[in-house]
Amino acid sequence: MKCVVIGAGINGLSTAIWLQRFGHDVTLVDRSEPGAGTSYGNAGILAAGAVLPVTVPGLITKIPKMVLSKHSPLFLRWRYLPRLLPFLMKYLSFGTKKHVSHFAQEMSYLLGDSYDQHMALAQGTGAAQFIHPDDYCHGYDSQAALDADMPAIAFRRALGYQIDIETGAEFAKTDPFHQGNFSHVARHKNHGRISDPLAYSRALFDHFLDQGGAFRKACVSDVVIAHGEIECVHSDHGPITADQYVFTLGPWVQDISKQLGLSIPLESEGGYHVELINPSMMPKLPVMISAGKFVITPMEGRIRLAGLLEFAGLDAPDNPKAVDYLTRHIAKYLPHVRYDDMKVWHGFRPTTANSYPVIGRPAHLSNAHVGFGHQHIGLTAGPKTGRILAEMISNRPVNKNLSVFDPNQYRAMGVEVT
Ligand SMILES: Cc1cc2nc3c(=O)[nH]c(=O)nc-3n(C[C@H](O)[C@H](O)[C@H](O)COP(=O)(O)OP(=O)(O)OC[C@H]3O[C@@H](n4cnc5c(N)ncnc54)[C@H](O)[C@@H]3O)c2cc1C
Repeated sequence: MKCVVIGAGINGLSTAIWLQRFGHDVTLVDRSEPGAGTSYGNAGILAAGAVLPVTVPGLITKIPKMVLSKHSPLFLRWRYLPRLLPFLMKYLSFGTKKHVSHFAQEMSYLLGDSYDQHMALAQGTGAAQFIHPDDYCHGYDSQAALDADMPAIAFRRALGYQIDIETGAEFAKTDPFHQGNFSHVARHKNHGRISDPLAYSRALFDHFLDQGGAFRKACVSDVVIAHGEIECVHSDHGPITADQYVFTLGPWVQDISKQLGLSIPLESEGGYHVELINPSMMPKLPVMISAGKFVITPMEGRIRLAGLLEFAGLDAPDNPKAVDYLTRHIAKYLPHVRYDDMKVWHGFRPTTANSYPVIGRPAHLSNAHVGFGHQHIGLTAGPKTGRILAEMISNRPVNKNLSVFDPNQYRAMGVEVT
């Protein structure tokens, strides 16, 4: 079958490679370089245990204080609030114990074997060298901060995740880079790290081309639908036709999603990284700074500090306060590190109201599939998402009820997106 995958981030690349492995003739389409969107700037964590949504119970009461504090990792552009509000209300309504518990169960399926899924995708390709089987560490400034996180740790342990607690001094024996930084460290075992997300995507893309895949650099604008199927998509480089179409457009999916007849409340959650180029010291393991909600990750030739959460829309310029927030923490957690240069990046996580990624086929279209909405865990879940989509398209059995990822669920609930 002739398949077109539109959007070449980690979700699109993974889908294209698995489709190819299942014997299809695949073309990838992207308006930019493959892997250069959100999949470029992330913290590089294969966060198998990231099964808790942002919207935990009690968040709603903390938000006003958080957006007003300059010590909080949450940012909001007030001018954007009227546009954000309908989504925000739906989003926060999912901050219930029931939703969190259900979400964690379902997301364990998508995330739990992420290291193996990445290896299965990349084994035998130039991309495998960037996958590292590291613990994902969470560093706490005080015993009280660790105690406050213990319910989340206990929750993950109950789902089968192994988490070992060490004192900061014990951890520093493994990773002297963090000497004196933490009171305690929770080591989330058997996770993983991508040491260069862009190089990883490029290597996957090279493998896709080597296996006979085609690439078209084009920006897709319109979908032409007739008789329950897509006839073609229009792009700035002319029409594109195929037997099957997959849309993996990351945070930029909303317009096309509506054209596909989907009604999915989606927002972009801004995020930032700063990179210290050619640092004088390198950490061994990735560490989430619990107090700051950002991650310090060792990458090839640089250290990346990535995270934060900003509601400001896809067109928002860089927020100097967010950049300042990260750079202030360099002085606190990396005081002895010298480096040649510092680079700043600002990107957008695609997030649905219930935080579930959207994976599947719009019910009324026979030849379209979508894969988006992977919020904070898209790098982790990309290979499995791609495999699931390729299996669906190839009519291979997927041994799991995937209804929580179903693109049609919001319309079924009567949700209209404005
Ligand atoms: C600061 C930050 C840190 C993060 N850290 C992590 C982490 O440690 N671990 C983790 O698992 N996840 C992390 N994430 C989330 C993760 O990066 C995303 O969920 C993931 O990259 C989304 O991948 P994607 O393929 O869906 O989208 P993208 O990578 O954004 O790809 C979408 C592609 O579609 C293309 N495109 C868009 N519109 C069009 C169009 N009209 N025509 C043609 N092409 C188009 C774009 O050019 C782009 O290449 C982080 C995100 C941020 C912002």
